[in-house]
Amino acid sequence: MKTPDVLISEVGPRDGLQSVAATMPTADKLRWIDALHAAGLREIEVASFVPARLLPQMADAAEVVRHAVTLPGLTVMALVPNVRGAEAALAAGVHKLTVPVSASAAHSLANVRKTREQMVDELRAMADLRRELGPGVGLEAGISTAFGCTLQGLVPEDEVIRLAVQCVEAGADEAGLSDTVGYANPAQVRRLFTRLRAELGDRAGAAHMHNTRGLGLANCLAAYEVGVLTFDASLGGLGGCPYAPGASGNVVTEDLVFMFEAMGVATGIDIRKLIAARAPLQAGLPGEAVYGMTPEAGLPKGFVQPSHPNVHA
Ligand code: ZN
Repeated sequence: MKTPDVLISEVGPRDGLQSVAATMPTADKLRWIDALHAAGLREIEVASFVPARLLPQMADAAEVVRHAVTLPGLTVMALVPNVRGAEAALAAGVHKLTVPVSASAAHSLANVRKTREQMVDELRAMADLRRELGPGVGLEAGISTAFGCTLQGLVPEDEVIRLAVQCVEAGADEAGLSDTVGYANPAQVRRLFTRLRAELGDRAGAAHMHNTRGLGLANCLAAYEVGVLTFDASLGGLGGCPYAPGASGNVVTEDLVFMFEAMGVATGIDIRKLIAARAPLQAGLPGEAVYGMTPEAGLPKGFVQPSHPNVHA
């Protein structure tokens, strides 16, 4: 198998499941995560550590983490909004923490009930905790609403970049940019990631794009063209944000993997097994809509993947 050129980070079990009303039973979550791992995904955001009264879909976060860390070669990530969540995630054994820090003042208050400055302080406390309890654990800041906000509208680019730099100064290993509500366009993505990489170098993190207005793939491609190599995506395009009105599905993992593999950019993922991983997702969330053009249309005749050149279904 060719070494992957890009890292596709699956966020469905977190971003996807927190945005649907139904709660996927734990056993189904584990089967789904196993299928994602079997398809070749090597980084999965499996849960968020938030109070169960706020997000009952994530009440089993620790159990899900404890299972996911048994899968060989998998980086197990969890979203944590505060020190308390980070403590619980570290205790459960995660490999990487991801912290949402909103660039929109309005979304920050709605999402975590903190100002942006307070959130940077919280991140600093989490970095201290990580140093103490889990020095080998990764810590990533995801700058949410980096491309616009349904509550506030425009989010000034200078503020986005300044906040990303502050997060790294506060102790995050990297800071990525999230289009939480699907407002981004490719020119804006190119501009912001170019600036981010100029400021942070290899501490510039992932592109987290939503497909709300159909530009998710175009935005990922724009980010790739300015050097971004890690992309968040969600199987079946599940996803949203309960505290950002109008947020909807993430970039569809199946379509993103198809785009890169068709371009000759290796993802390490077997797309046929990836499409098969929709079955346990649908079994665990009966009646929930799943999206994706590639799974619906099928792979082109004779399609060969650079990641799996000898594998044919
Ligand atoms: Zn998202």
